[in-house]
Order: sequence, then C-alpha cells, then structure tokens
Amino acid sequence: MSDRVSTPGSPAGLTPRIFVISGPGGVGKGTIVDALMRRDPHLRLSRSWTTRSQRPGESDDAYVFTTREAFQVHRDSGGFLEWTEFLGNYYGTPVPDLSAGRDIVLEIEVDGARQVKARHPESILIFILPPSRDEQRRRLEGRGDPDHKVHERLRKAEEEEPVGLALADATLVNDDLTRTVDELVSLIDGYRGR
Ligand code: ADP
Ligand code: 5GP
Repeated sequence: MSDRVSTPGSPAGLTPRIFVISGPGGVGKGTIVDALMRRDPHLRLSRSWTTRSQRPGESDDAYVFTTREAFQVHRDSGGFLEWTEFLGNYYGTPVPDLSAGRDIVLEIEVDGARQVKARHPESILIFILPPSRDEQRRRLEGRGDPDHKVHERLRKAEEEEPVGLALADATLVNDDLTRTVDELVSLIDGYRGR
C-alpha cells in the first residue's frame, strides 16, 4: 500500500458492514463511489433523501428528492439512520436493512459520518482528501458549480477536514482517480478479511 493511504483504525467485524465514504464537496466522492459500485457487485449503495433541487443533468435516482415537510415527517418517525442540514438543505440516510446480506456504502458529509459512527461504532469511515485546495476549486468549477457555491464548499471544507480526519479509519488522497479507486477497493477488501 502506498504512503498516500493511512489506516489508523481497526474495526470490529460485523456482517454486513457499513462503509462510509466522506470528504469535502468536489473532492470526487460521487465519481469514486460510482466506480466502486461498478467494481464490486457485493456492495449496496444507500440512496439518500434530500430537500435540494435536482441539478440539471442529474439522474432521477441520485437521491429521493423531497420537500422539507415530507423530510421532517420521515425524520420524526425515526426513518433516518442519520440526517443533517448541509448548506441550507436537509440530507438523510434511510435506516438500512442490515439483514439484506450485502455490505452497504454511504456517501455522506462529515456530520452524518459522525452520527453513523456513534450509532454503529463498527462502521468504517474512509475520508477522501483533495490533493490541494486549488485542485478542489478546479474540480468544483469544472463540475459547473456557480462561484458562490464554490466559495461555500471550499469554506465548508476547512471545517469538515479536521473533523473527518479525527473520525476516519482510513484516508485517501484523490489525485489520480483510477489509483484512488484501486486503493479504495483494496481497503474495503482488507476490512472484509479481518
Ligand atoms: P463530490 O461528490 O465529492 O462533490 P464529484 O464526484 O462530483 O465530487 O467530483 C467533482 C468533479 O471532480 C467532477 O467533475 C469529477 O469528474 C472530477 N473528479 C473526480 N475525481 C477526480 C480526479 N481524481 N481527478 C480529476 N478530476 C476528478
Ligand atoms: P450534494 O448536494 O453535492 O449532492 O451533496 C452535498 C453533501 O451532502 C455531500 O458532501 C454529500 O456527500 C452529502 N450527503 C449526501 N447524502 C447525504 C446523507 O444522506 N446524509 C448526509 N449527512 N450527507 C449527505
């Protein structure tokens, strides 16, 4: 394993496992998780709920797109494993069916990751870092985020990274995408083998 990967934690084994992929906006989480799901058919991707609007070109099943009212009703009836308000919108992970056999992947921000770790200490948090703040900015701009969103996400990243690093079982720097996905696949395989 290269020195770009560090694995300070050692989770207890439970089946199925919950793998939490977190990191600041624009680091490449969605891209990495898409590739991961193609590589590993034994993983199941959790589909979050959000109150934000669907982006142009974003697939209908990227999220359950919902209203604040419907989100609150679901939240108050205990329907979420975790939820948070992120830059003005609600996001939440539905309570997963842990009897379904396959390991579960959550792609969520750090406050949600903290909640999942609190409820499921055996879950494994892999925190993704950008190679630099400038590269993160280029990715956000390249994705078409408007200027104010780019600023917001870069500012938010300064808060998120120390929290994520403190919670993480492993960290990965997403410089070369193929290499990052390879490293993530081997990290996950490694945790399964323990
Ligand atoms: P996140 O889900 O973390 O907000 P995305 O997956 O939307 O980030 O990625 C942000 C942008 O960066 C996208 O345009 C994506 O294609 C690009 N990207 C992702 N990983 C890399 C990489 N390793 N090198 C260069 N660009 C990348
Ligand atoms: P976006 O609006 O860019 O799709 O997502 C904004 C942030 O919310 C990203 O960091 C994403 O990982 C995170 N996110 C997506 N779904 C959830 C969720 O269910 N819970 C939490 N806590 N964060 C989420």
